[in-house]
Amino acid sequence: MKIKSFHPPQRVLMGPGPSDVSPRVLAAMARPTIGHLDPKFVELMDEMKSLLKYAFQTQNELTMPVSAPGSAGMETCFVNLVEPGDKVVVCQNGVFGGRMQENVERCGGIAVMVQDDWGRAVDPQKLEDALKANPDAKVVAFVHAETSTGALSDAQALVEVAHRHGCLTIVDAITSLGGSPVMVDAWDIDAIYSGTQKCLSCTPGLSPVSFSPRAQEKIRNRKSKVQSWFMDLNLVMGYWGGATKRAYHHTAPINALYGLHEALVMLQEEELENAWARHQRNHLALRAGLEAMGLDFVVPENERLPQLNAISVPQGVDEAAVRALLLSDYQLEIGAGLGAMAGKVWRIGLMGHASNPRNVRLCLGALDDVLG
Ligand code: PLP
Repeated sequence: MKIKSFHPPQRVLMGPGPSDVSPRVLAAMARPTIGHLDPKFVELMDEMKSLLKYAFQTQNELTMPVSAPGSAGMETCFVNLVEPGDKVVVCQNGVFGGRMQENVERCGGIAVMVQDDWGRAVDPQKLEDALKANPDAKVVAFVHAETSTGALSDAQALVEVAHRHGCLTIVDAITSLGGSPVMVDAWDIDAIYSGTQKCLSCTPGLSPVSFSPRAQEKIRNRKSKVQSWFMDLNLVMGYWGGATKRAYHHTAPINALYGLHEALVMLQEEELENAWARHQRNHLALRAGLEAMGLDFVVPENERLPQLNAISVPQGVDEAAVRALLLSDYQLEIGAGLGAMAGKVWRIGLMGHASNPRNVRLCLGALDDVLG
C-alpha cells in the first residue's frame, strides 16, 4: 500500500511549546521558495535583523536567527563564548539549567552550579556568593523563563551581579521573548538566545540570538578555534553580517524564515508592550478559573510566568489520563511535568497566538468537565 500525504489534526496547543501558529505565518511559509542569495531574499534578511532587534530591544549588530531549534541557539552561545578551561557559573532552577551545564562541560569549561528550588526564581544573592567564591569565573549563564516549572527570574538583577564580578552573561529567553519584557540593551545582556515556537507564534526550528559588542570582542579574541564549524559566529557573520556582499555559509531555511519574518511583523503591529499585557491579562483570567476549581500553582505569585502556568495535579488524579482525554475529546494539548516534576504537574501554556480569551475558556471548561 502506498503511503498517502500527511494531514495533521487541528489541535489547540496550550502546552509548553510549540504553541499555535498564526494562519498568517503558515500562509507566508507557503510562498514560493527563492534562492538564499537572491537580492530579494537578502532584503528579507535585512528586515529580519531589524525586526529581531525590535523584539530583543537591542541595537546589537550581531542579531540573527540560527538555522536550527532553540537548543542550537543555546549551543551557539556556549561554543562561541566558552573556551577550554573557562569557569562558568550556571544558575539552575529547572531542567534547562542542566542543559547549560552539559554545554559548558562539552566545551571543555568548568561548570560551577548554583542551585535554586524548582518552581522558584534564581536568587541573585546565591549568584553573588558563588562569584565571590569563584573570582576566576568568566561567564554567568541562567534561564530567564524556566519552561519546566513556570518560574520567571530577574534577568536585570542577575546580569548586574555578573558584571560587577567581571563576567559575561548568557541568557536563555526561549519562553520569555514576546511574552514578557526582555530588554537586551537596557539590562546589558551579552549573549541571548530564544526560540520561534513559543511566544513568537511561529513554527519550531529557528533560534533568534543576539550578541553585545563585549561578547563579540571575546569571540574575536579567542585563543582556540570554535569547535563547531556550523555555529562558529565568525563564519556565520559572513552570511548574516552587515557586509554589503553576503557569502554562502549554509543554505538558509528560506520558507521557515518567511514564517519568522511574518511572525515578527505581527509582533511589531501589535507592539511589544501590548503583547506583554495580553499575555498577562489571559494569565490572570486562567488563574482565576483554575483557582476557582481548587487547583494550585507551583510558583509563588510574584515569580510566575504569564505564558507558562504550572499547576499541581490533585491527589488521586491520573494526570496522563486527563491529558489524553483533553487531546481526544477537546483537541486540546496541555503539557506534562518535566524532569523532577514529571507526573506531579500540568503545564498550561498561553503563548503568542494561543494566548487569547477563547483558549482560556476552552481550557477551563474542558478541565472542569474532565476533572468532574
Ligand atoms: N530552553 C528552554 C527554556 C526551553 O523551554 C526549550 C524548549 O522548550 C529549550 C531551551 C530548547 O529549545 P528547542 O526545543 O527549540 O531546541
